[in-house]
Amino acid sequence: MKILVVSAHPEPASLTNALRDVAVAELQAAGHAVRVTDLYAIGWKSEVNRRDFPTLSAFTRLRVPAASSEAFVAGSLTKDVIAAQDDLLWADALILAFPLWWFSMPAILKGWIDRVYAFGFAYGVGEHSETRWGDRYGEGTLAGKRAMLIVTAGGWPTHYGPRGINGPIDDLLFPIHHGVLFYPGYDVLPPFVLFRADRTDEATFDATATALKGRMRTLFETPPIPFRRQNGGDYAIPSMELRPERVRPDLAGFAAHVEPPALKDRQVEGLS
Ligand code: FAD
Repeated sequence: MKILVVSAHPEPASLTNALRDVAVAELQAAGHAVRVTDLYAIGWKSEVNRRDFPTLSAFTRLRVPAASSEAFVAGSLTKDVIAAQDDLLWADALILAFPLWWFSMPAILKGWIDRVYAFGFAYGVGEHSETRWGDRYGEGTLAGKRAMLIVTAGGWPTHYGPRGINGPIDDLLFPIHHGVLFYPGYDVLPPFVLFRADRTDEATFDATATALKGRMRTLFETPPIPFRRQNGGDYAIPSMELRPERVRPDLAGFAAHVEPPALKDRQVEGLS
């Protein structure tokens, strides 16, 4: 299989990059083809501006979605963006490796998303009408591919637990998992998160590397997070709200957009 790994850390010898390298080595050892994009190493331009649309007239007001759509259709996006889109189309799986900075991804990686996810490529895809709201949330250009995060975080696991002060890690990563990855079609795997990363010693690193290698070996077997598909019948159009007859009306917030485990699984886990 083919895997694209995109990493975002300014220090080549960082813990985050060391874990990225562990993942890459394990994937290559299993015979996969791997491409690595180190955003700091290549000096990725992270801000969206007029330079992204070289054919846009200097007299035209910049409206980013329109300019993005026109440039995508015309093939006039910048070379770096086109190359990154080609990498995404090439890969069967995408891995994003980054330190958690201010409860999200570093700006350079957000800027990679902002620029590479052009209108017509990652959004504005499919039929938009009274009865259909495009191909997104489980459908779209990147459907059929898998995506996964490798994240290092300074906080403790309890800080990110169900009652932890930072908020649950699944909630904090929801905008990336659901909004950035599921939106253009990816099946999103549970993340690999190393907490208390700043306190990592050799023993912790070795145990973490072993666990990460295991996740790489099961990259194409691990069940994805069962996000509800936009066009699967759970959402009303055009309100895009969960339909009360399909999903219990008292379910709300991020968790409501994840299918509950099947009854048989709940019985196995003793939760029913
Ligand atoms: P590094 O600094 O590279 O290394 C961390 C430790 O691991 C060091 O002790 C180092 O010796 C050791 N190490 C590195 N490589 C190896 C190796 N190969 N083998 C063994 N040990 C190794 N944390 C949060 O929880 N939430 C936040 O919102 C948050 N926001 C932040 C915002 C900013 C701007 C910054 C700078 C930090 C923030 N942090 C936050 C903390 C951040 O998540 C951690 O500092 C980061 O994840 C640590 O990863 P790193 O790759 O930078 O580690």
